Amino acid sequence: MKAIEIRNKYLKFFQKHGHVVIPSAPLIPENDPSVLFTTAGMQPLVPYLLGETHPSGIRLTDYQKCVRTNDIEEVGDNRHLTYFEMLGNWSLGDYFKEESVQMSFDFLTQELNIPVEKLSVTCFAGDEDCERDNVTAECWKKAGIPEERIYFFGKDDNWWIAGEEGPCGPDTEMFYDTGKPKCSEECNPSCGCGKYVEIWNNVFMEFFKDKEGKYTKLKQHNVDTGLGLERMAMLLQGKETPFETELFAPIMDKLAELQKVDNIASRRIVTEHLRSSMMITCDGGRPSNVDRGYILRRLIRRMIRHMNKLQISLDELSTLIDINVENLKEMYPALETNKETIKTVILEEKDKFVKTLTKGEKEFVKEMETVKSEGKDTIPGTMVFRLYDTYGFPPEVTEELATENGMKIDKEEFEKLFKEHQ
Ligand SMILES: [Zn+2]
Repeated sequence: MKAIEIRNKYLKFFQKHGHVVIPSAPLIPENDPSVLFTTAGMQPLVPYLLGETHPSGIRLTDYQKCVRTNDIEEVGDNRHLTYFEMLGNWSLGDYFKEESVQMSFDFLTQELNIPVEKLSVTCFAGDEDCERDNVTAECWKKAGIPEERIYFFGKDDNWWIAGEEGPCGPDTEMFYDTGKPKCSEECNPSCGCGKYVEIWNNVFMEFFKDKEGKYTKLKQHNVDTGLGLERMAMLLQGKETPFETELFAPIMDKLAELQKVDNIASRRIVTEHLRSSMMITCDGGRPSNVDRGYILRRLIRRMIRHMNKLQISLDELSTLIDINVENLKEMYPALETNKETIKTVILEEKDKFVKTLTKGEKEFVKEMETVKSEGKDTIPGTMVFRLYDTYGFPPEVTEELATENGMKIDKEEFEKLFKEHQ
């Protein structure tokens, strides 16, 4: 089942259950300077979770484009993505645990045809802020999940809040059993070994956490759910990583064809960052030295560094953008409408970076040789700062270059100099 079929089935299913389909909010939040990007499906809906009336009603469903870059360095492994799509259904003071659990169960088993034996669920174990969620566990039993596959965990696993304060609550999470053997006797859905993959998270949002960490009940109980599209597509297609699904495969294959040096991590980084930077640019983002512009710049520059690592000519970037537009335009028609702008922005940034790289890398190599000849393995913060200040060389790139050469950078000293400079 292709990602777009999963998305369409999802929206149709919840529409059938009385939900109104609302459009995805843009990746760049319209009236919220506190966050750089939309990072979760609930973010654009916060005012309505707090009690404001939503013009489309109290049952909503959508797909939401999201960008999260706190794990950017992890991209290249078999699962991390900076851009992803969340499918969500919302109850704004309407249905609660029972109906939410039943709909999730029916969607997974009847629409996606996932065998019940493949599913495990987790519920909130309870603490001084909120009681143990036996109600949800009973709902799962009633729906058809046997007791031995219903687990209870604390706030680390089964509590959801975006950031430090805001609407929040206990959640119940659904896990797909990949069929891999248990890593130990205690292996369970909270284990990171890869046997269990989280597929859906239903948050029963009935609390508000304030800055002091105090919880109060919201005016209304809400349900906020999130199902990661890329991961679901991967599981339903029996793939080991999202990069093998139709969302990424055309670029992965093209890179394999063009590369002169084989490196799967670099192919994933280029593929992932290309999609991510195209989506951000499409929603109006532009590279710059601050805030979200800096993140976009970093994505594009990291992609280019890894194209260099694969020894792929940067002239191919234009073709890669064409392939991605062709592949993703059914899901995101705006990519086609804005294709020329996206291309201009990304290619201009590439040209700027090529100039920076050439100068900076020369300087880096000189400095590295000096440090090495002194028998040390740490590039001093002063040098990292000089590369940044004089050559516009991003500290992350210096760090990556250092790592590749078996060295470190003095980050602390750099941060100190950077702060002074600011
Ligand atoms: Zn395990």
